[in-house]
Amino acid sequence: MLGFFRKAVSVQSNTTKGKIQDGGAVTGLLVHALQEGIIDCAVVTDKDGDWRTIPKVARTSEEIIGAAGTKYTISNSIIAVQEAIEKGCKKIGFVGTPCQIQALRKAQLLDEPYELGQERIVLLIGLFCMENFDYDALMEGLVKGIFGLLPKDVERFEIKKGMFRVIDKDGKSHEIKLEETDKFTFIGCGPCFDFSSELADISVGSVGSPDGWSTVLIRTESGQNLYDSALNAGDIKENALSEKGLTLTNKLASNKIKRFEKCARELEQSGAKLSIRR
Ligand code: SF4
Repeated sequence: MLGFFRKAVSVQSNTTKGKIQDGGAVTGLLVHALQEGIIDCAVVTDKDGDWRTIPKVARTSEEIIGAAGTKYTISNSIIAVQEAIEKGCKKIGFVGTPCQIQALRKAQLLDEPYELGQERIVLLIGLFCMENFDYDALMEGLVKGIFGLLPKDVERFEIKKGMFRVIDKDGKSHEIKLEETDKFTFIGCGPCFDFSSELADISVGSVGSPDGWSTVLIRTESGQNLYDSALNAGDIKENALSEKGLTLTNKLASNKIKRFEKCARELEQSGAKLSIRR
């Protein structure tokens, strides 16, 4: 259900500890990769004061740390890979959702002689993703419509234990059941089967690990090399991922595949031709 992986662990970043969401593993790994010259830039997703996503080419540790944290709405981050190529970056690291990782892996594996600069993409860090939200629907429908807040009032969003939570800048928490947020989901997320970024070098999410830790799946040789380097340098620390944590992660991946199958059946019943195969 989680695709191929060599190792599954709980990870906490030592360089960014306490500053960002969960264990900060994505940011810790990217900062280490930049400092060691494994990458010369990282394509990340930043946000403005109203939580609109901003694809960004980060060239310093501070820029990577400044863009940390989940944004919860769809972002066209791949566009910044082109920006990185045009700016002359030669070793590009990318962090994004499973659909974005699929797109970039396909670009890397193209047989056709397109010269996109895809050989400069050297690291893909994928996020766990059950669904993502449409910006206008989330802000108008939930943040304003249900909680009576403006986007600029939001300190952070979080999804934990079946609840979708908005923490405002006064520290007050507003929450609804996750299942009640379906109407704000981005429509393209319905027929999506990849929960854990199966084609990434390293996949990261919060599911399966205790608060303050990230679940990390190491998949490829380059992912393994980065992980070992960060661990040996003391920039991250690891803990065993519990059997229960791995089972829960598998369960969410399985639920996503079931949702995809249901969506595919509905589309087929409606007469649509579906050419997605897992
Ligand atoms: Fe992309 Fe799928 Fe996540 Fe939607 S659910 S953002 S399509 S990976």
